[in-house]
Amino acid sequence: QLSRRLQLVATYVPKGAKTADIGSDHAYLPCYLCLTDETATAIAGEVNEGPYQSAQSQVRQSGLTERVSVRKGNGLAVIEAQDGVDVVTVAGMGGALITTILAEGKDKLTNVSRLILQPNVSASTIRLWLDQNGWTLKAEEIIEEDDKIYEILVADHGENKSLYETNKEQKMLLGPFLMDECNEAFQKKWTYEKINWERILTQFEKATETVELKEKKEELKKKIEMVKEV
Ligand code: SAM
Repeated sequence: QLSRRLQLVATYVPKGAKTADIGSDHAYLPCYLCLTDETATAIAGEVNEGPYQSAQSQVRQSGLTERVSVRKGNGLAVIEAQDGVDVVTVAGMGGALITTILAEGKDKLTNVSRLILQPNVSASTIRLWLDQNGWTLKAEEIIEEDDKIYEILVADHGENKSLYETNKEQKMLLGPFLMDECNEAFQKKWTYEKINWERILTQFEKATETVELKEKKEELKKKIEMVKEV
């Protein structure tokens, strides 16, 4: 049974897509995509030997060796121009690592139309990169599973200037679609973050002030205010 988190990622993959799942571990997502859509094909990319082996055996066990290609390599380097990949998924990593993978493999994204990204932390780093690199956020999800909160960002190639026209910083931090929806998982995540920042701020207040500390305090206060507003 695929996790609800990866099932939700899968709902954003169009029928018949050729998907490259980067950091695929057991290749659960590529196998699920191909088992639920007979017109789908996929690449499972892995940089580490253990997860690469797991992905290979999962694909074999699922009888999908003709449709899921398991490849060993760093990030988007496993994608070749002739693969015709139209969707890239990267799930279960930090936002900074996902952003590095996209930035380092930028030339592999020219013909990709959709990115589905599931950061465990720092989704804001990804939102900023997408906005600066010609990708438009189309949808966002936030869910709680096994006591963890996950965000999913869906972006399509092309610019949309209007998305961050107002309150840009706040939308980058919280997510424009997630802010509007303001569901239970969203409220839980940001209530927790706010309490945590307030705790840090109290500690900072007790310390001797330096220019650096002052800046950090201002930054925290700003973020607390942005969360309070929603
Ligand atoms: N995507 C799966 C999921 O969401 O359940 C697996 C997530 S697992 C926590 C992260 C995987 O990404 C690991 O198997 C790791 O080896 C792989 N990984 C980390 N950095 C990578 C990179 N630069 N290129 C390819 N795979 C990478």
